[in-house]
Amino acid sequence: MTDEEKMTLLAGWLLDQRAAYPAEGIDGGDLQDALEKYGFLGEFKATEPCFDNCECAEFGFPSSCYRQTGLGTQVRRAYQAMEKASRS
Ligand SMILES: [Zn+2]
Repeated sequence: MTDEEKMTLLAGWLLDQRAAYPAEGIDGGDLQDALEKYGFLGEFKATEPCFDNCECAEFGFPSSCYRQTGLGTQVRRAYQAMEKASRS
């Protein structure tokens, strides 16, 4: 699957959630699952906190921590740069 297809699937999923009636908002767990399903997050088996205040520490170890994939990091950086440029 291409990166463009993954982005299309994620955007389509978000729009589908929004279109659901009655609207209930997007559940954080569902969003995380979609981000993983479409390749923006990957499950990592953590045996200690990834960094200070990492959420995975809440569940004890070993634990599953969801980290950005290369694609996730690339898209997020591009988003932040584009948003910053649009504000200046
Ligand atoms: Zn973690």
